[in-house]
Formats: sequence, C-alpha cells, structure tokens
Amino acid sequence: MNAPHTLQEPAGPRPYNFSAGPAAMPEAVLQRAAAEMLDWHGSGMSVMEMSHRGKEFGEIYAQAEADLRALLAVPANFRILFMQGGGLGENAIVPLNLSRGGTVDFVVTGSWSVKSHKEAQRYCNARVAASNADDQHTRLPDPAGWQLSGDASYVHLCSNETINGIEFHELPDLAALGSKAPLVIDFSSHVASRGVDWSRVGLAFGGAQKNLGPAGLTIVVVRDDLLGHALEICPSAFNYKTVADNQSMYNTPPTWGIYMAGLTFQWLREQTEGALSGVAAMEQRNIAKAKLLYDFIDASSFYLNKIDPGCRSRMNIPFFLRDEARNEAFLSGARAAGLLQLKGHKSVGGMRASLYNAMPLEGVQALVSYMREFERSHA
Ligand code: PMP
Repeated sequence: MNAPHTLQEPAGPRPYNFSAGPAAMPEAVLQRAAAEMLDWHGSGMSVMEMSHRGKEFGEIYAQAEADLRALLAVPANFRILFMQGGGLGENAIVPLNLSRGGTVDFVVTGSWSVKSHKEAQRYCNARVAASNADDQHTRLPDPAGWQLSGDASYVHLCSNETINGIEFHELPDLAALGSKAPLVIDFSSHVASRGVDWSRVGLAFGGAQKNLGPAGLTIVVVRDDLLGHALEICPSAFNYKTVADNQSMYNTPPTWGIYMAGLTFQWLREQTEGALSGVAAMEQRNIAKAKLLYDFIDASSFYLNKIDPGCRSRMNIPFFLRDEARNEAFLSGARAAGLLQLKGHKSVGGMRASLYNAMPLEGVQALVSYMREFERSHA
C-alpha cells in the first residue's frame, strides 16, 4: 500500500517549470490560495464550497473581471466572459456564434489554427485565406498576400502558436487589407504577456491554463455588436449573448478557476519594471527572457531554432539538439538540475521551453547555464 500523503514544508526553492500548459503559476498565488484554502476571508468556506450566486463569490468574480479589464485595457464596448470548454471548445463556439452559417476566413499558421479551421467546417464555409504550411509553419504569411473574401463573417487567426513557437508581434489591420470582417484571435498561450490592440480585434479567446490560472476556465473578450447572432443549433450555455446577459452565470461557472485567475490578475497588477507596471512590465520581462534564450541558441552550433526571427514566439521556444541521439540525456540532466517539462510537443519533437509570465528571468538563466554546460560536456 502507498504511504498516505502528508503535507510538508517545501524543502527548498521549487524547480523551474517550462511546461506549455497547464503551466507554472506565480508562487505567491499558490501560497495565497493555500493560505485561503479552508477559510476564504473569514467566510468559513473554501472558494470551492461557495455558491456561485452568493455574496462572497460575487465579490471574487467582480474583482477578477475588473482586474482583467484593467490589465488588458479592455474597452467598455467589449464584454468579458468566463466560460468552460477550453480553446478547442471555442473552435466550435466561435463559429456557432459568429459565422451566421456563412463564410469565414482562416489564416493558418500552425497546429492550433489548423484545428480551428477543421472544426469550423462543421458550421460554416471555412476558407483558408492564407497558410504557411509550405514553410512548415516556420514564418508568418505576409498579410499583403492574404486572400480575404469580401463577405466573411469573421477572420480567424491564432496569435501565438504554442506548438510551433510562432507569434504575431503585430495584429493585422483588416480594414487596411480591404476586409470589413471582425478579427477573431486565439490568444490562449500569450494572453497577458503583452498588450492587445483592441481596435483590430472583434473577439479574443483563450484557455487560462498557460498564463492565467488552472485548466477549466476559458476567457472570452467579445465586442458587444457581435453578440446575438448565434445559429439556432448553438447550445444555450455556449451562446455568448446568454452568457453575457447572465454575467457568465447562466450555468455554474468554473468558480475555482476564476478565483485562481483572479489572484493571478492581482499578482500581475502588482508587477513593475522601472516605470512600467502590469502587462507592460510583463512584456518587458518577456522580451528580455526570450532574447536571452534565442541569442544563446543562435550563437550555438549545438542547438537550433527553426523559426523566422521576425515572428518567433516570446512564450514558447521550440529548439533542437543537432544530435538528436542526445535528447534523453539532455532531458534527464535537466530534470536533475531542477528544470522540468522541457520535452517538445510530440508532433514537432526536440525541446520546448515555455516562458510564461510566471517564469522569472532567473529560470531562463538557469536553463541557459544548463544548456551551455551540457554542450560543453557533450559537443
Ligand atoms: N489554442 C492554443 C493556442 C493552445 O495552445 C491550446 C492548448 N495548448 C488550445 C488552443 C487548446 O486548448 P484546450 O486544451 O484548452 O482546449
């Protein structure tokens, strides 16, 4: 029989966790949740035990929404929805709500937008307006060459491709490209790592489990004129207008996820870098973290990153050992050095380091030191 689990004080600093998601959370958030686990603010209840319609959870919800709105500078004519179903759920929920059964343009840039396009075909005429498949998803297709249709209900893109490690550093201005359609972005894996230009976006969605909180919570930010056009077959619980009209409480929302994400929003709001705070501070840190790792990889003849430097992701950095026979040794040495979950996605292979907001610069420095030492002893 297994020994019963006991709770012990941590033996020392926690390892650095490079998981692509569910991913590392800020330690301060985990500590706070642990301290509040049995009794939230003298209520006598854990957040998991509260009615979502009660006063206590109402406070948690309102604070989380206000903090997210402030962090991402979400304009007043956008609604914030806290849903369930994850990114893949939204691949169906978005066309059910926005396509009107008509034409939708997809910009396909990697594994996640491939999946979004495929799922939407069940509900609408889902076209590929641009694709980088011929470049093995290593560079973004130039917006000037996108084949946008005149009558699209919306244009979909994934603004950070988690598996491929490719990111839009600027969102396209669809109006300037001759399209009147709203832009839908899947920002699952870089939400809150940088600002969002809402003047170019109609709807953004993302699972929380990378940069915001635990799995089970999905964030949707939607311009209010896009509500109310759902297909008849759209499930009520996934109808954005129904969700918005009921402050995300048409059915029970993922209360624990909202609470944890709310603590993360507070943590984010407290972060500063010089005169910058919140997401702007995180963006500076994320630029520095990613530069450290990319510069090291580029200077090495032992490691390789295949993505065009102009569109490399700051959040997800896939890299390869030129001698792949050393992969297992690299990973087991990394684990022993306190560097966790560096194995690449199975469809790409190699390694992947995800550097979300909760990863401090020191974690990337530790990774680079390990990589340098591994190269020295194995080259
Ligand atoms: N989109 C992106 C960009 C992702 O990174 C992921 C998860 N890795 C998904 C969608 C799918 O999200 P979920 O597993 O929450 O459905």
